[in-house]
Amino acid sequence: RIVYVNGDYVPEAEAKVSVFDRGFLFADGVYEVTSVLDGKLIDFEGHATRLERSLKELDMASPVTMDELLEIHRELVRRNEVAEGMIYLQITRGADADRDFAFPDPEKVPSSIVLFTQSKKLADSPAAKVGMKVISIEDQRWGRRDIKTVQLLYPSMGKMMAKAAGKDDAWMVEDGAVTEGTSNNAYIVKDGVIVTRHLGNEILHGITRAAVLRFAREAQMRVEERPFTIEEAQGADEAFITSASTFVMPVVEIDGEAVGSGTPGPVATRLREIYLDESRKAAI
Ligand code: PMP
Repeated sequence: RIVYVNGDYVPEAEAKVSVFDRGFLFADGVYEVTSVLDGKLIDFEGHATRLERSLKELDMASPVTMDELLEIHRELVRRNEVAEGMIYLQITRGADADRDFAFPDPEKVPSSIVLFTQSKKLADSPAAKVGMKVISIEDQRWGRRDIKTVQLLYPSMGKMMAKAAGKDDAWMVEDGAVTEGTSNNAYIVKDGVIVTRHLGNEILHGITRAAVLRFAREAQMRVEERPFTIEEAQGADEAFITSASTFVMPVVEIDGEAVGSGTPGPVATRLREIYLDESRKAAI
């Protein structure tokens, strides 16, 4: 596999960053994951726009322009012959040998950029046919979840708590309401109305979320962006999640309670189909 590191395309064994990189020492970095279908990028513009926002919020400079970024994505897809899968991109505040909490001068310490690909079957997913089971856990992350930083320890712990309980993922709860999944946005459906938490600093502004809500509204489905509780979710007709790598994935159980029929529901199933169709058409 060929990996992109700070201007070079290199075999993965040769892809290295400094031990002084602030991504490694301080989790001082941001990332994006863009999916690939039919060898093309899904919603590259959405991911590039969110990346620019994450960088701006952290006062970090991008080492490349967004046009260059698109070229790097395409070049990696070509070199690694990715028909279906993901591209991971990470920008960190570079390697400053002084290890100072204060940010280094960007003129002296340029930010680091790394991209790599993962070939994986995404669209034809067995999990989408059976649905996922989730547990609820307390949301103990920091307060700026709208910035896509690489500090993913708590979400990793959440996944491990789900795994230990024999389930697939965890939904995080703050002040009685669901924020989001460990690596996805959370939704419920009741009487045909799709409910998902409103945007704010409490959740990541999912690129898939934006697209799915747009498609839902275009298909005349009703959408409410507001907080909901685990109890409301357990009493819903359907539940699902969205993310760049899972698209729309049904949730059939929450804390041991079946949601609706306990099988993937019609709204989630239809939204997954619409999302895949429309995203394939718009892929670049
Ligand atoms: N919330 C969190 C916490 C995430 O990590 C992700 C995926 N990285 C999402 C939501 C979904 O975002 P997207 O649709 O842009 O992948």
